[in-house]
Amino acid sequence: MKDIFSTDKEFIAHTYGRFPVAFTEGKGSRLKDVDGKEYIDLGSGIAVNAFGIADDEWKKAVTEQIGKLQHTSNLYYTEPCAKLAELLCEKTGMKKVFFGNSGAEANECAIKAARLYSYTKYGEGRSTIITLKNSFHGRTITTLAATGQDTFHTKFGPFTEGFVYCEADNKEELNRLVKENNCCGIMFEVVQGEGGVYRLSNDFVAEIDRIAKEKDILVIVDEVQTGNGRTGKLYGYMNYGIQPDVVTTAKGIGGGLPLGVCMLGEKMNDVFTPGTHGSTFGGNPVCCAGAYSIMSRIDDKLLAEVNEKSEFIVSELSGAKGVKAVTGMGLMLGIETERPAGDIIKEAMERGVLVLSAKTKVRLLPPLNITMEDLKAAIKVLKEVIGK
Ligand SMILES: *Cc1c(COP(=O)(O)O)cnc(C)c1O
Repeated sequence: MKDIFSTDKEFIAHTYGRFPVAFTEGKGSRLKDVDGKEYIDLGSGIAVNAFGIADDEWKKAVTEQIGKLQHTSNLYYTEPCAKLAELLCEKTGMKKVFFGNSGAEANECAIKAARLYSYTKYGEGRSTIITLKNSFHGRTITTLAATGQDTFHTKFGPFTEGFVYCEADNKEELNRLVKENNCCGIMFEVVQGEGGVYRLSNDFVAEIDRIAKEKDILVIVDEVQTGNGRTGKLYGYMNYGIQPDVVTTAKGIGGGLPLGVCMLGEKMNDVFTPGTHGSTFGGNPVCCAGAYSIMSRIDDKLLAEVNEKSEFIVSELSGAKGVKAVTGMGLMLGIETERPAGDIIKEAMERGVLVLSAKTKVRLLPPLNITMEDLKAAIKVLKEVIGK
């Protein structure tokens, strides 16, 4: 091997625009690159490392499990999988859980579940799902179709049929789309992540809930990014006082290992029967043991800390030089800056602070347990870079 960069460029498919940095190790919200340079991480590997790098409790849960049993297939029972499903249902009021390996796979499951529910109850044809413009639901052909951004709907066609797109926070359009289409579900993120850290209004989410209940349309909340403590509540929908029919999540729940979850509510309790859906790796005992450790620690105390840290960031950045607006919720924040987000990300990285982008904004998704010390140091650098 020559060096990491040129070997990667030569042998890895060029689907990513990578930054010229290679990391070797870390601890908590600190990362080290191959040259030994240290960084404070405000990105968590895109909201994945919920408790930062190499978290001790998570590491213990994962290594203990990997030393006992790493995989069995879904032909058999394993304890970590059952325990995690029980914990998730206790914490959310949902009734059943399906485990996959990614956000896209969780959303595929939600789409199949919604269509199956409707098919079983109403017969063929009632299969359209309303999603929102500027949403992001994944990279498979079907979840790309569900993603309400035209740029994702070229080159790879034909796409899965049966998705129509509503402008976020537009109640009239929502009502018109429900009237004009034979709908079985409405799927949305309560804070659009990739779409620019846009938080849906309470009023719009209440209207989705109202019309869905009236017409027996399923409320499907994509919590792949907003879930697992990210918004300051356990799940983002809990900020809105609704109880969805389907909740999907991934990213942070595995603490860094791949795990996708589709949670099904009361109405959906018996929707799946043996053979209707599946996944070879789904519910892997190592991933589930790690996720159990993560989920059992996202309690009221941790969520209060998430909210305190959020308030700190918002108060530091709101009205600061070069900042036009701060959007989002909890530790999922977008910063609209006067300078281009790309320049800020690059310069912050040079100064040892990792941040992300979302459309034209700088996006922050720090580990939920980042220390105030690290957070203060990182925000100080970020403010200087933004205000330059
Ligand atoms: C990241 C993301 C996905 C896709 O998750 P993958 O694990 O990359 O498949 C889906 N929905 C939302 C809201 C996301 O943020």
